[in-house]
Formats: sequence, structure tokens, C-alpha cells
Amino acid sequence: MRTRVAIIGAGPAGLLLSHLLDQEGIESVILENRSEEYVLGRIRAGVLESSSVELLGEVGLGDRIEAEGQPHRGIYLQWPQERHHLDFVDLVGRSVWIYGQTELTKDLMAARKSAGQQAFYEAAAVTLHDIETEHPYVTFIDAGGTPQRIDADVIAGCDGFHGPSRQAIPAAVQRIWERVYPYAWLGVLADVPPSTDELIYAWHPDGFALHSMRSETVSRLYLQVTPDDDIANWSDDRIWDALAARLGHGQDGWKLTPGPITDKSVLPMRSYVQTPMRHGNLFLAGDAAHIVPPTGAKGLNLAIADVSLLSTALVSLFRSRDSALADSYSDDALRRVWRCTHFSWWMTTMLHQGGDDFDAQLQLSQLRWVTSSEAGATGLAENYAGLPIGF
Ligand SMILES: Cc1cc2nc3c(=O)[nH]c(=O)nc-3n(C[C@H](O)[C@H](O)[C@H](O)COP(=O)(O)OP(=O)(O)OC[C@H]3O[C@@H](n4cnc5c(N)ncnc54)[C@H](O)[C@@H]3O)c2cc1C
Repeated sequence: MRTRVAIIGAGPAGLLLSHLLDQEGIESVILENRSEEYVLGRIRAGVLESSSVELLGEVGLGDRIEAEGQPHRGIYLQWPQERHHLDFVDLVGRSVWIYGQTELTKDLMAARKSAGQQAFYEAAAVTLHDIETEHPYVTFIDAGGTPQRIDADVIAGCDGFHGPSRQAIPAAVQRIWERVYPYAWLGVLADVPPSTDELIYAWHPDGFALHSMRSETVSRLYLQVTPDDDIANWSDDRIWDALAARLGHGQDGWKLTPGPITDKSVLPMRSYVQTPMRHGNLFLAGDAAHIVPPTGAKGLNLAIADVSLLSTALVSLFRSRDSALADSYSDDALRRVWRCTHFSWWMTTMLHQGGDDFDAQLQLSQLRWVTSSEAGATGLAENYAGLPIGF
């Protein structure tokens, strides 16, 4: 079969790219190795930057975000005995939205289906071929066990960190930057209304904690743990006790309300950037090219920004045979990727315990600065609420 753009991966990057191309009348086919139900059930990110929400609204995907998402003016930063609110709207005129990645995935899948775009779920042995030529193609085995081949003008590698796309770029061309952190997050999803109106990022001698949420009835909470920590060590009671201590239960009358935990997992943390994001007729987007630790809430937003730039570049390439934006795609996307990589690293290192007392004092000093100086607060707010997509 033939298509204009063969998209590997049905995460937010692949699904949104397909939708953006469809809006411009450009056909694509998605290949995903998991089942549709599995992709829909994955619990991941939940904070959308203002520019992500604007983009989704412009392409007809804003209705449910508007109706069911929660606009947040800012975040709380805290350490023992102190809690401070940073108001992004006052500081930089932009807010963020709480809207689960699972909900966004639902919206994107529905949009693709109503547009009649083709997708192959449970595609095995997905392999990229001839990416350096004008005739790249992808082979795979479909869910029924039949070998298939898709010829395309370009291939979009939106298959995350473990997919085949980034590995298809020859080692002699690739460059990789990586930082593996000595801590991980234990993430839990709980059927209990959030105990806070906006996210609480907590520095604590026992380790970092974050109180986030997915809706008015579902809380998402995280605890700093070690990367080799076994989830079996963490009973629900131990999790709630640790969250209560680190998030400051009882401080100034604030209470953490526990509830039934419906999902828990340990997430490793790393920063990773692979360049270039384009090689021949293969373009990488989202986690296929970069990973950030979740502290800055950037992974999902970076995937959205990448495919926004990529779809514009591909429209220009196909419609006007103008390759300028496709040629500069990697550099254009990487400017934002590195900004978000720095911000995510900065938030992570400011808030997590590394076991060094000197570092701990520097962290507290930095927290006091960003919560008491308008200059410090504005820098955090500008990065957290998100820079424009074309930054
Ligand atoms: C476990 C986990 C938890 C996370 N939690 C948070 C969080 O709490 N907060 C936060 O801000 N961010 C979080 N993130 C980051 C955020 O979810 C990602 O940055 C975002 O999903 C990136 O979207 P993407 O489309 O680029 O990649 P993905 O969502 O990873 O999508 C890639 C797709 O490619 C598919 N694929 C992989 N291999 C193949 C193959 N061989 N053939 C075909 N398809 C393939 C995958 O199944 C997947 O559907 C988390 C990420 C992970 C992995």
C-alpha cells in the first residue's frame, strides 16, 4: 500500500501528527505495535501548556478540554513549614490545563476514526527501509499475521524511546546526550478528589513528593524513590503515610485525604536527546528523539510542539515543494527541546534529595529565591506555562 506519510507509533505525537496532516488534506497511515485498548489505557502525563491547548483548539480538539479539563493559574512550591503559590497568569499571562493524556488520546483516536484515516494496531516487526532515498518504506506483520509493506514519501518516527525509528538513524550520524538520575518516581492514581486546587511540588528531607490530579475525582500523586525500589515494598498505607509527611499534612490546617489506589508503578527518570531529528526522509518526533524527567511536565507538550512544527514543514514540502522548513525541522525543534530539557533538569535537581547536605542548602536557597523574587518566579512561570511552539 502507498501513503504520503507512514507514521510509526500511536502515542500523542503520532496521533496528533496524523490529525494535523488530515486537516491539510494529507493522507497518512499509523502503525502501532500495541492494541488500541492498551494505548487508551496507559496512565501517563496530565498537564497541558497554554500553547498546546491553543493548538488543539485551533484544530477542532478543544471541546472536551474546555468542558472537562481544569485550568490552573499556577502551582504551589513547598518545603517543611512553608508553602508558596506561584501565579503564572499574574506573572506571564498564561495558565496550564489539567487534562489526562488518556483523555487526549481518546480525542485524537476519535478524530482519526471520523476522518477515515487508516491505522494498524498490533503491528509486529515494524522495520524501516531506504530512509536515505526518495522511496522509503516500512514493513510489518499485521494483527492477522499477514506481512505488509507501506511505501511513503516520508516516515515519521513517533514510536517513543523503545521504538525502531531512532535506531534506524546510522550510528555515524547520531549524537546522543544523556543524564540518568539517581532517583525515580513512584506514581499512584487514586479514586479520591484532590486535596489541593493546584499542583503541590514538595521538597522534603525524606525525598520529593508531588500532588497532582487527573480530574475532580481522581488524584495523581508521586513520591521520590530509588530506581531499584520494588513496588512490593510500598503498601498503600506506607504510600499514604509518606505522602502525608512529605506534602505537609497538618501544616497550617491542610489535610491530605487518602483514598483507594487504582494504579501504582515506579518510573525511572532520565534526560535524553538524540540528534539529528531528521535523517533523509525519516523525521523523529516526541519521545523517539528526547526524554525528559516528568518534574517539569514537558514530555507530552514537547511531543505536541514537535508535530506542530513537523506538520507545517511537511505541508510546505508536499504543497509547494518548498523544503526549507523540512530542512530546518531538526534545528527548529531542538531549540525548544533543549530549553525544556534544561527546565526539566532544573526543576528535578532543585526538588529531589541526592543525599548531599550542601546541595540541600542550595536547593532551599533556590526555592526561597523563586518564591520571593518576581524575577525568579517569572523565569519558572514562563518555562512551566510554556514558551510559544515556534520558540
Ligand atoms: C511510563 C511513563 C509514564 C509517564 N508519566 C508522565 C507523567 O506523569 N507526567 C509527564 O509529564 N510525562 C509523563 N510521561 C511522558 C509522556 O507521557 C511522554 O512524553 C509522551 O507520551 C510522549 O508522546 P510520544 O507520542 O512521543 O510517545 P509515546 O506516548 O511513548 O508513544 C509512542 C508509541 O509508539 C509505540 N511503539 C513503540 N514501539 C513500537 C514499534 N516497534 N512499532 C510500532 N509502534 C511502536 C508505543 O506503543 C506508543 O504507543 C510518561 C512516560 C512514560 C513512558
